[in-house]
Parts: sequence; structure tokens; C-alpha cells
Amino acid sequence: MFFMKGWVIGLEEFVLVDQLDEVKRNMIQFNNDLKENEEMRGRFLSHFRQWYYIREIDMFAPSKFIGYKNMNASRYNNKNGAGVDGRKTEVVLRKWFVKKEIPSFFEKLQERIGLYGRIKESSKIHILKTEESYFNSLLDEQRQVYDVTKGSGKLLINLLKVIPALEPVNRSREYNLYNDSFRDRVVYKYLFHSRTHRWLDEHIIGLNPDESRGYQAMGILHFIGLKDKHKGIFKDLGIQEAIQLLEMQNFDFNLVIQSLQRYQQQDTANRDIEEGSSAGEYIELESNVTAAPEQIEITETEKEQVIKSRIGQSTFKKALLGIEKKCRLCGVSDERFLVASHIKPWSQSNYQERLDVNNGLLLCPNHDALFDKGYISFDDDGTIMISDGLDGATKVFLNVNESMNIRMNESTKEYMKWHWENIYNS
Ligand SMILES: [Zn+2]
Repeated sequence: MFFMKGWVIGLEEFVLVDQLDEVKRNMIQFNNDLKENEEMRGRFLSHFRQWYYIREIDMFAPSKFIGYKNMNASRYNNKNGAGVDGRKTEVVLRKWFVKKEIPSFFEKLQERIGLYGRIKESSKIHILKTEESYFNSLLDEQRQVYDVTKGSGKLLINLLKVIPALEPVNRSREYNLYNDSFRDRVVYKYLFHSRTHRWLDEHIIGLNPDESRGYQAMGILHFIGLKDKHKGIFKDLGIQEAIQLLEMQNFDFNLVIQSLQRYQQQDTANRDIEEGSSAGEYIELESNVTAAPEQIEITETEKEQVIKSRIGQSTFKKALLGIEKKCRLCGVSDERFLVASHIKPWSQSNYQERLDVNNGLLLCPNHDALFDKGYISFDDDGTIMISDGLDGATKVFLNVNESMNIRMNESTKEYMKWHWENIYNS
């Protein structure tokens, strides 16, 4: 009889459980092994479809693991050929468990177990029969919320949709690099329009997606905790409905809610601006600039300075350093003081122009400032043109004189013509 229930390999035998306490013990073991045992993670997790939950210990585990007496990671990993079979364990577990669809519970499973590896989307959850009344009242509650909010047809349908919990990462580099205006638009386009990371990099941040590979938008979204499963989740909803929906979730979605609220406030403005227009228009100056005692009007060139300091500058500078190693106009060659200056300003360039080395001049801080503010430019032959706005002494101190010239290729000449027409103030 005993032999009928077990499978033997060497001395190891796998015997189906017959006590609920054995199931609990296995469940605790499984959750410990997940943390401790590398082999239990990753590929194994994606094989399980039947998950069992015991509220008393607040844990999940798969049937194949909890259905045999004294299971642990090393036994489980050596089970091959021992006839261990998830279908047999499912039958045995039916004694205590019942399959239950609880919308929020797949997310809970994701939160707990999804940390360690991928979980089947089609996973089923079984709960203890003795705990079923608790889950029934939980479902009732969810249904009541659903009734209260009748009136918005779309919301009604979507209320059944539980928003997957956020999975924030610690890396904050990209998130910190951009201000709210960028972040909010990235979040909105991702959640409501299913835009890819690459699309967002190109159209919201203004980068060449072949270069950035979507990593900037991805960094922002991942810091907030928005992953693939959130992409396009609000595609049938308005912003207000989405916010309502987020507020009803058990999980704290504050960061996303705030982002959408800000986005909504600027919605009208956003709608007027075509996708892919200059990202520079949205740049807000950093606190040290805005903290000036009086409201100052921010000029394009000032914005440009800020943009230079934060986006794409290092890539662009590296590219320029590959061509020239010192200021085009003087001898400064200490890389720390060289600025990769755009001839046609970053804020007015498309993403190809932003990264085109032909649109760049490596300059020292003095010469960059003069060029940026339009006090100097160059004619087709590369001869310097100096604004009348500079007096003799300033010219001396800032080290510019009429005999200076630079060499340019045809492509650079085109950009320079643009600079001369649009930036240079003779
Ligand atoms: Zn210089």
C-alpha cells in the first residue's frame, strides 16, 4: 500500500502528503528555498501553473512542491525520473483547497514570487476551503466599489482590472536627469498610448533612439516601477478615470497619480505641441537658476546651457574629441574645460542634428560663451565675425580678434550659415 503512493529513487522516495500540516511545512520550506537556493529560481518558476495560498501563513507555493511529504529544494531538484507529477499532487490537494479567481491575487503572487523569476500569466490560484469565506467578502467589497462608481461605463469595465503593483528599482540616474515635464509625458505616453521605450526616447526626450536604445525612458519608468505589464494599461481611459482607478488600488500608486495629475493640468498645452517637437521647450531651469531673487526671463541661450549640461553632452563631446582635441580658436586643450558647443542649438535641432558632429565645435568656456550668445560667428571661409557689441577691452580679455579663423567642411558650413542668420548679432 505504502509503495503504491510513493516513487523510489535510490533511498529517496516521494510520498504524497496526507496532512494539511505537511502542506504548510512544505509551503514555508518553498518560500525559504526561493530565497536561499539559486536553483529554485528562474526557470523552475515559469513551469508552475497551479499555485496554492494559505492566508494563515500568507504564502504561495506550487502544487508539485507542496504535494509530497518533506519536500525541499535539493529533493525537488533531484526529482527527475522519480515520477513526481503535478497532476497527482493537485488531486491530493483538492482535499483542502479550492480554485478561486480573485483579481488582485495574481498581482499578489507576482509581488511575492515574481521577484525570483517569471511566473506564468495563466497561473491559477487555489485557496484553503476553510478560508474561503474571507475571500468571498473580499470579492463582495470589490463588487461594491464597482457599484458605487457606476456612471462611467468605461470605468465600470476597467474596475475589474487590477493594476499590477509597481516594481521600482533603485537606479535613479535617468529619473533624476529629467524634470517632471519629461517624466510626466513619458509616463502618460507609456500608460495611455503603449509607446515603446525607444519611441519615448526619440519623441519625448529628443534623442536618437538608435543611440539611446530607449534606455533613458526605460530608466525613468523603471525607477517609478512601471514595467511591461503596465504598458498601454489605460489605453481606453481618460486621465481622470485612470487616476480614480489608481486611487482604488490597494497598492500605493502615488508617484504615478501625481505624474498624471500634473500631466492633466498641462494637457491643453501638451495637445497643442506636436510630438517630436523640441524637447528643449520643456526644460525648466534648475533650482540655482530659478532661485534668482527676481523673476528673470529665461532666454533660449540660457536654456541651451542647461540642456548642454544634462543631456547628450558627454556622448557628443566624446565624438568631437575624436576629431579635435582643443579649442578651435585657442590652445586650451584640458578636456575638463572644453565644451561641445552646438552650432545650431540643441533646442532647435532635430535628434540627428543634435548628435551630428558636423554641428559641433569644441570650444573653451570663453569662446563657447561668445559663440553661444551670438557675439561671434564665422563666414563661409571660416573667418571670424565679431559683433559690434563687444568693446576692445572685452575682445582682449575674452581673447578674440579679427585674424582668427577655423576650417569647416561643407556640412559644418551649412550649420554655420544657420548660426550666422539666426544667432549672430552683428
Ligand atoms: Zn578658446
